[in-house]
Amino acid sequence: MYERTSRLPVPTSMEEQVLRIKASNGDQIRQLQDLQSLTHLQLDFWTEPSKPELPVDVRVPFDSLQSVKIHLESNNIDYSIMIADLQEVINAEKQEMEIDGRKERNSGTFNYGAYHTLDNLYSAIDAIVLDYKSIVSKQQIGLSYEGRPLYVLKFSTGANRPGIWIDAGIHSREWVTQATALWTAHKLAFDYGKDASVTSLFNSYDVFLLAVTNPDGYVYSHTKDRLWRKTRSIVSGSRCVGVDPNRNWDAGFGGPGASSDPCSDSYYGSRAESEVEVKAVANFIRGHGKIKGFISIHSYSQLLLFPYGYKCTNPAHFTELNNVGKAAASALSSMYGTKYTVGTICSTIYQASGGSIDWTYDIGIKYSFAFELRDTGFYGFMLPSAQIVPTAQETWLGLKKILEHIRDNPY
Ligand SMILES: [Zn+2]
Repeated sequence: MYERTSRLPVPTSMEEQVLRIKASNGDQIRQLQDLQSLTHLQLDFWTEPSKPELPVDVRVPFDSLQSVKIHLESNNIDYSIMIADLQEVINAEKQEMEIDGRKERNSGTFNYGAYHTLDNLYSAIDAIVLDYKSIVSKQQIGLSYEGRPLYVLKFSTGANRPGIWIDAGIHSREWVTQATALWTAHKLAFDYGKDASVTSLFNSYDVFLLAVTNPDGYVYSHTKDRLWRKTRSIVSGSRCVGVDPNRNWDAGFGGPGASSDPCSDSYYGSRAESEVEVKAVANFIRGHGKIKGFISIHSYSQLLLFPYGYKCTNPAHFTELNNVGKAAASALSSMYGTKYTVGTICSTIYQASGGSIDWTYDIGIKYSFAFELRDTGFYGFMLPSAQIVPTAQETWLGLKKILEHIRDNPY
C-alpha cells in the first residue's frame, strides 16, 4: 500500500473553501493585506483585513488552499474553516430555489421567503403595483450595461413631496438584500392606511425603492458565478469584467479602499459614474432635487453605517446620525436579538472611497445610511432562504426608526 508521508493537510474535496481568519495584531493584519496583494492566489476577500477585532473571511480556490493555510500556520495566524465545501452550499441553494419555484408556480403566489431570479422579482414588482395602485407606481430610471431596465417603485399619496431613497443589490451576490427590498416594498404598500407611522410618513414624504440596483450582476450570479459582486461592463484593455459600483460614486473617487486593477473586486472604474447603473441613480437623485434620506442595503456583517468612508473625519451631523443609528439598531435587535454595530464606515470597518452614501451626504442628503444585513459570517453571502423573512422583518423595525426620524425632523 502507498503510504502518505507528507505532513501537509490532506484536502477532503476538490472544492473551494471559505476561511475565517482572526488576526491578533496589526502585524498580522498587514500580513493578510500582503496575502491579498498576491493576485495569482485568486483570493476573494468577503470581509477586508482592517483591524484585529474584525474577522477576515476569505474564499480560497482549491488550488490555493494549501499555500494559504501554510502561510497562515507558519505566521501563527489563527483561522477556522467557515465553509468547508462552498460548491456544495451553492448546489443546495440552487436545488432549494428550484423546489421553491415549483411550489410557487403551483400556488400562484410570490414567496417572500425564497430567492428569485430577476424575472421573478420583476413580476413581483408588477404585482405590487397592480395590488396597491393607489400608493405605488413603477418608473424606469435607466438601463443597465446589458440593457436591463432599472425599476424604481414610487410610494406616493399624490403631490410630489420630498423623497426618501432606498436601494438594494448594488453588489449582486448579496442576495438577502434584493429579497429584503421586495418584502419591504410590500410592507410599505400594505401598511399604508393601517399602520399610523407609515400612513403619516406618506402624508409628508414619497419613498423611492430600487430593489435590484445591479441587475446584470444579479443575473450573472444566478447563471454563471454565485459570488459575482461587480457590474458586467467591459473594461477596455483588460480581460477582466466589471466595476465595483460602490466604489464608482463621485466621493473621494479613486482614493483608499478601492482598486485601480480591473481584475480586483473593488475596481473603481475608469471615472466616477462610469457605470450606467450608478449614473442612473445619481441622475435621478440630482433631478429630483428634494431627496432627504438615502438608505442603501448591503450584506453581510450586521452593521449600520453612515459617512464617511473615503475619509476618517466625522461628518458634521455625527451626533445626530449616531443617535438615529443606535435607535434603529436597538429597534432592529428587539425582534430576534440580532446585534448590530453602528458607526461611520471608516471607524467601523475601513476607509473605502467612492461609496454612494458619502456622495449623497456631500450633496446635502443629511440622512445617508448603509445597512449591512445578516449574518456575521456563519453563512456570509450564502445566507439560507429561511432567514430572508426574519431578516426583512427585523430590518424593517430599524428602517422605520430612520424613516420616522426623517419625518419628524424636516430640513
Ligand atoms: Zn455590498
